[in-house]
Amino acid sequence: TPPTDCPPDKDELGRSTWTLLHSIAATYPVSPTPNEQSDIKAFMGLFAKLYPCWFCAEDFQRYMKKETVRAASRDEFGNWLCNAHNEVNKKLGKPIFDCNLWEERWRTGWKDGPGQQNMSDIRTQ
Ligand code: FAD
Repeated sequence: TPPTDCPPDKDELGRSTWTLLHSIAATYPVSPTPNEQSDIKAFMGLFAKLYPCWFCAEDFQRYMKKETVRAASRDEFGNWLCNAHNEVNKKLGKPIFDCNLWEERWRTGWKDGPGQQNMSDIRTQ
């Protein structure tokens, strides 16, 4: 759905935010330096505090206490984020996304062709 509201509601904000976060994972280094790893952890910690849907932010902070950010590689961070997103999906009764496919969805495009890119919501397990 095209963005229409001003200000954005929690769904539009959520979709845009997941796009940003997964895109950050997609461009995160394959072999990050210790500094890059601490930057992403600091970023996620502040993000969870500042996210403008306060009840979403509270739950997300609780989740991050339980499942601390893993970011020793792009693969590790991408999977951590995918699992975090799935936790929200579960809470909202949305389909669970197959995390083996996060990179196809957010970095490389679907292996079976560019025409499939809009079918992301079907790629669930
Ligand atoms: P979204 O969940 O926004 O996903 C966007 C796209 O990401 C999907 O179309 C799919 O292609 C892909 N995708 C889906 N799952 C995954 C995954 N696991 N890994 C990788 N890619 C995936 N809303 C609430 O109502 N209550 C909340 O408590 C709440 N908490 C939130 C916490 C955070 C940190 C964020 C960022 C958002 C939160 N939201 C919450 C918003 C919610 O997650 C959705 O963004 C919103 O409901 C719109 O959902 P959507 O169906 O458009 O897809």
